Amino acid sequence: MTMRFFNTYSRKIEEFEPRDPAGHAVSIYTCGPTVYSRAHIGNFRAYIFEDLLQRHLELRGYKVHRVTNITDVDDKTIRGAREAKVPLTKFTEQFKKAFFEDAETLRIKRADEFPAATDQRYIDRMIEMIGELIARSLAYQADDKSVYFRINKFPNYGKLAHFDLAQLQSTGRVKHDEYDKEHIGDFALWKAWDEEDGDVKWDSPWGPGRPGWHIECSAMATALLGDQIDIHCGGVDNIFPHHEAEIAQSEGVTGKKFVRYWLHCAHLLVDGQKMAKSLGNFYTVPDILAKGYAGRELRYALLRVHYRVPLNFTWEGMKEARESLGRIDEWLQRLRQVAEKENVQRATPINREHASNIQRPTQQFEEALDDDLNISAALGFLFESIRETNRAMDQDEMDAATANAWLDWWKRINTVLDLELETEIAVPAEVTQLAEQRENARRQKNWKRSDQLRDQISALGWEVRDTKDGQKLTPLAAA
Ligand code: AMP
Ligand code: ZN
Repeated sequence: MTMRFFNTYSRKIEEFEPRDPAGHAVSIYTCGPTVYSRAHIGNFRAYIFEDLLQRHLELRGYKVHRVTNITDVDDKTIRGAREAKVPLTKFTEQFKKAFFEDAETLRIKRADEFPAATDQRYIDRMIEMIGELIARSLAYQADDKSVYFRINKFPNYGKLAHFDLAQLQSTGRVKHDEYDKEHIGDFALWKAWDEEDGDVKWDSPWGPGRPGWHIECSAMATALLGDQIDIHCGGVDNIFPHHEAEIAQSEGVTGKKFVRYWLHCAHLLVDGQKMAKSLGNFYTVPDILAKGYAGRELRYALLRVHYRVPLNFTWEGMKEARESLGRIDEWLQRLRQVAEKENVQRATPINREHASNIQRPTQQFEEALDDDLNISAALGFLFESIRETNRAMDQDEMDAATANAWLDWWKRINTVLDLELETEIAVPAEVTQLAEQRENARRQKNWKRSDQLRDQISALGWEVRDTKDGQKLTPLAAA
């Protein structure tokens, strides 16, 4: 078993080999949210793809160490705080909280660390790195007092995004406020303080100011994961300039290859356009919940398409997600019933000859994910299995051992999918009372009353089933 990923750096599918000589440990850095507003579901497509990557690596036995940063100081956060007339930390706090809430709703596994750019530890590291870059002539302080990276001095600049500097020069238009730079493509490492920044500033050898966005990630990634990391992810819009700059800064300081595999997900689109704050065509997680959808339904809708394929967000897609999950829920319920039948006398003996033909679960799901996280193929295999096993159950041709094997398989693949219906929903008192009355009615063989009570229970959104252990209440699948 080997995993293969499309590496943006080489533009090729490559076999995955982590740096760890024992081959177990994997370090992952994922660019996290810029907390100037609530993240939209396009951002969450990126985080869900990264979640899928981590969970599949773990299913395959790797020990993942993942870091996701929080960008809590940049132009947008400063502007937002100024407009809201509150201190920067107070302004960003609410969006950090919202990010964690939404990530939990979508069942995204927490990273091992969530470093924040404003943490003094990392500010110190950023300043140290910028000092190193200046010492190596890879950076300079311009007349405007800001410090810039000198891209002409870093021959590999442009390798990730696959373009050469000449192109950048010929197409670039020098903006009025960038006249201090040597090259149009030179990017800020340290931004000198100006009035608009208010009290957002840190001391540095170059005067008061604040870090540029790119150096934040280089500093936090290398501080927590070392000079070299296995996998670095983000959305395709991060490739340039952000990740290109991260390579230049990190390799400029360490002299070592920063990242082995660069993985980028395609965008979530709305009507063919990128979902983006600036275009105003976005939805947040609470917007989707307000329409009556559950977190796992949105998780499924964002997960089901291969990460390198653009995905169009539609309400029709949400409906399909609900239907697909309904099929999984129903299938699991049936399998559990068959598995429970073990000790119950069967009406007709199972057709053993036929039963042995019912396929047992195979490795196909996991192998599809090994192939550059081909989730569409993996889900295709899951639904094909559901069809086949349902057919077998329709004909009463599945024995308990086979049903249990499928349930075990589901348990395993659900560590990656995390799509199972949460069943620990408290039964409302009103429903319990009706169920008790129904039990009495049945004891008195008053079937008419029993049926009426069943209807009343179902009108409250619950299904009552009669089992050998008495009545069982389950919430009706959301309409
Ligand atoms: P930001 O908060 O803008 O820094 O973005 C956080 C993450 O979301 C980055 O990895 C972006 O590449 C990603 N992202 C932004 N918009 C979209 C989108 N429409 N679809 C998928 N990923 C996105
Ligand atoms: Zn980043």
